Amino acid sequence: RIIQDFFMKGEVLKPGQKLNLQLAKKIAKMYDVRIGFDVEEVKAETRENPLEEIEKYFEENYKNKDKLVERPPIVTVMGHVDHGKTTLLDYIRRTRVAEREEGGITQSIGAYQVEIDGKKITFIDTPGHEVFTEMRARGAQATDIVVLVVAADDGVMPQTVEAYDHAKSANVPIIVAINKIDKPNANVELTKQELVNKLSLIPEEWGGDTIMVPISAKKGENVDTLLEMILLVAEMQEIKAIPEGPVRAVTIETKLDKGFGPVANAIIKDGKIKVGDYIIAGKVKGKVKALVNDQGKRIKEAGPSTPVMIVGFEELPDAHSVIYSVESLEKAREITEKIREIEQKELKRKRHLKLEEILKMMEQTEQKELKLIVKADTLGSVMALNNAINKLQSEEIRVNIIHSGVGAITSSDVMLASASDAIILGFRVKADSQARKMAETEGIQIKTYTIIYKLIDDLKAALEGMLEPEE
Ligand code: GDP
Repeated sequence: RIIQDFFMKGEVLKPGQKLNLQLAKKIAKMYDVRIGFDVEEVKAETRENPLEEIEKYFEENYKNKDKLVERPPIVTVMGHVDHGKTTLLDYIRRTRVAEREEGGITQSIGAYQVEIDGKKITFIDTPGHEVFTEMRARGAQATDIVVLVVAADDGVMPQTVEAYDHAKSANVPIIVAINKIDKPNANVELTKQELVNKLSLIPEEWGGDTIMVPISAKKGENVDTLLEMILLVAEMQEIKAIPEGPVRAVTIETKLDKGFGPVANAIIKDGKIKVGDYIIAGKVKGKVKALVNDQGKRIKEAGPSTPVMIVGFEELPDAHSVIYSVESLEKAREITEKIREIEQKELKRKRHLKLEEILKMMEQTEQKELKLIVKADTLGSVMALNNAINKLQSEEIRVNIIHSGVGAITSSDVMLASASDAIILGFRVKADSQARKMAETEGIQIKTYTIIYKLIDDLKAALEGMLEPEE
């Protein structure tokens, strides 16, 4: 109600925004005493999110460039179904990861590390863009490089485009692996042509800047070259970490292990995790009882980019949450309790803005980009919509379609919207039930239309600041 009233007056308040005294007084004056009392109460109970303070430490220390060290790149493999992602990951793991320790645990820990000429690469073992984008939406971006697998006998397919859009909106460099070159009907040249035409990825050998490596994941042909290219791209990026001190790690998956209890499979980003450390992941705390590496071996500590199974959480933490080490059990308790409190008050709940609010904000800030995800019933309508929407570009506001495609609005679209602060437009398609649920919890706006000009008119009106705020 307050946000809406402010909005009508042309002022923007964000849900969860902290109020200064001046604003609080203004609000109190606008309403009756009861609301004035509410304002006081919220003010008294809204404490700093303790994670912000922890994050500040890392932010500060990243400024100290000579204290940073290089760390191995973390790689996610993406691409269309059946194009060979799993085969590639399996081949690399089989040929590159040392034999498992005798008596070691043989289950995957979500990621593994390989070594090429003394240089390491960490691979996330779950292929596809779902985990990638979910982590990003939780503020736990872990991937430094994406390997986009495209089968040379099939070319660029819908999920190739989707994976590309997800990687691109995260600003992660892409290396293309043109796979299945052992097949008689493989056509590498045609595949490259499609990558140029459909994704504007231009191979280096054609004067572009995308590295494309023809491989056979099944036979292992050229996979070494692909690994070398990953290291080459990594060298050009600034992939760094704080080597010592407090730990920050990203969770790939969490599970209840029969022997170990709640475990988190994670990749260390900063610091060195050690057995005995006090840790938190969201509202869950723990003490590191054991660390297990990708060879099933128990280790005492793990540094940046190392995949590790962390044993010792009191409960199952949220998947894709960020793990931090803290100095004591009391501190861990204090922080997790605060987070619980905040969560209960829903202040922490991630809220995104509606189209109208985003546009209103743009008027006041430097950010002049509207990000859209467009889904439609046919390829013809997708193209027509893209054309029509791109015509709405103005000097003031950039309209950026970060992803478009044929078919229903899925949870993958919602995750991408959440990670990128985008709005989803559907034309003659609906959101499936999972996507609808997720949109609700993530606070993502989905607008669906059945008439093309209505969609364009709405967007145009919104861009011109004429759209009535809706409720
Ligand atoms: P994913 O869905 O992308 O993970 O694809 P998979 O790795 O499961 O591979 C799908 C199918 O393609 C499987 O039958 C693989 O054996 C096959 N495949 C994968 N890579 C190659 C390759 O390089 N050459 C050939 N001939 N087949 C491959």
